[in-house]
Amino acid sequence: MSYRRRPVSSIIKYFLDSRLRTLKGTSGNDVKWSCAKVSAYGWLYVIDLHTHTLFSDGALIPAESAQRAYAAGYRTIAFTDHADYSNIDFIIPRMVKVCNKISEKGNIFAIPGVELTHVDPFDIAQLSAEARKLGAKIVVMHGETLTEPVSAGTNLAAICAGVDILAHPGLITLKEAKLAAKKGVFLEITTRRGHSYTNGHVAAMAGKCGAQLVLNNDAHAPGDFVGRPLAINIARGAGLSEKEIIIMLKNSQKIAKRALA
Ligand SMILES: [Zn+2]
Ligand SMILES: [Zn+2]
Repeated sequence: MSYRRRPVSSIIKYFLDSRLRTLKGTSGNDVKWSCAKVSAYGWLYVIDLHTHTLFSDGALIPAESAQRAYAAGYRTIAFTDHADYSNIDFIIPRMVKVCNKISEKGNIFAIPGVELTHVDPFDIAQLSAEARKLGAKIVVMHGETLTEPVSAGTNLAAICAGVDILAHPGLITLKEAKLAAKKGVFLEITTRRGHSYTNGHVAAMAGKCGAQLVLNNDAHAPGDFVGRPLAINIARGAGLSEKEIIIMLKNSQKIAKRALA
């Protein structure tokens, strides 16, 4: 059967599943951490579930952004352009369309998403639901970064709304991190300048309560696809152990699979 005749979601699921199958031994057990370290994370996809295109403040149209990511070694990305009530219904259907076209070629898988940005905390739950209804498979919330005057209460409202990823959550409190752990909201460790100031704090809060982390580039331009070695060093700089970094990288695969389930 040709790839083009199969639904894109099934192709992506097969791609991820087959990759995961290679991670298991004949006994079916997951490979050991030590094995992963020896292979320098080579068995995990390079993934960025938080990127921007010309549909908000990114530099490229989705097709070129995907191609640039592919050339940089990435195999799965999510387009998560900035959105509020003014543009959400414009962006998402177009992302769904282009992601289907990109993904059916089989080089790189593109997931349609959105980053709710500077949305009033009281409106986050409603807009998050609307995003999913429009076809967003990953809902990211633009969290309380130190570099912008994001409204206080955004982190908490996003977690309560059950977004997939709380991006650059700044000085997130332990109480919020605990709630994120309970709700299954992933907290972002970011390679993006400025937003990354609080990576160490986010990692520490997550470590105290078992909140799950995800590593993203928040890529706005080709140079932001920093690749695995630098991303891993940034994660180490945040104080994460090798084991925690591997779990975080696997979380990206988990979210991608969930998005396409
Ligand atoms: Zn953001
Ligand atoms: Zn962003």
